[in-house]
Amino acid sequence: KTHARPATRVGQTALRAKSVIAVGSGKGGVGKSTVAASIALTLRRLGSRVGLMDADVYGPSIPHLLGLSGRPGFSESKRIDPIMLDDSPDLSPMPVMSMGFLVDPKEAVIWRGPMLHGSINQFLGMTEWGELDYLIIDMPPGTGDVALTLSQAIPLAGSVVVCTPQEVALLDAVKAIAMFRKVNIPILGMVENMSGFLCPDCGKTYDIFGAGGAREKAEEMDVPFLGGLPLDIKLRVAGDEGRLAAVLADDEAARAPLERVSQAM
Ligand code: ADP
Repeated sequence: KTHARPATRVGQTALRAKSVIAVGSGKGGVGKSTVAASIALTLRRLGSRVGLMDADVYGPSIPHLLGLSGRPGFSESKRIDPIMLDDSPDLSPMPVMSMGFLVDPKEAVIWRGPMLHGSINQFLGMTEWGELDYLIIDMPPGTGDVALTLSQAIPLAGSVVVCTPQEVALLDAVKAIAMFRKVNIPILGMVENMSGFLCPDCGKTYDIFGAGGAREKAEEMDVPFLGGLPLDIKLRVAGDEGRLAAVLADDEAARAPLERVSQAM
């Protein structure tokens, strides 16, 4: 538990968060955004105040996964008002910030290093996050630029590396671990996503991308293994329909592995 940390105040900015956690992967398509959003939603369900920042500026998918749209406004103090996920009277609204709210989804985002650096710093510092226990950051896959920018801007409590059990994805995960290490962001652990498919018809588990690879790789790399999330058609449909929060709220079985991962935060 990293709760004991003092609130991190970023210079003159509005970010006050006890723990800032980056979720990264070596390559795209392994479910990094789904896992980042699910971790944020799970921590929030467990009673924490959580914000979610989509730093995957090249392919921002958080707004879509959560069914959020709209344009962030500017508050009187010239800060950016994030879009709030306000889906349940029992849960505190969750501030979300993404490049997806600022650019036309049909237009490709072409960022050069300095622009990228600037946008990440603005997202972090100018957004009216409020008082947070956790800020979860969905990182772009691979590239070290954003990790470097983040590590210079704020003290991160740690990072989570998402991979699939497939050998090629694991090799990319090793690169992601090396990247976080290079910029001195501690690694909280590795999550194996799409680890086994439980067939709803026959009850058998199929290891579509292999099995156990991430655990072995984690041991080899000397990072904790935080567990696996099965390939679950409900999660895929939920993401496509922007109903990830609603589906996780209703599905205890889908939440269980996420609660275990969240314990490492
Ligand atoms: P990334 O951020 O790594 O590019 P996404 O989170 O966008 O990956 O996921 C890619 C696709 O895989 C999405 O359609 C998403 O709904 C789906 N997906 C991710 N994790 C799972 C899972 N555990 N079970 C089923 N589908 C998943």
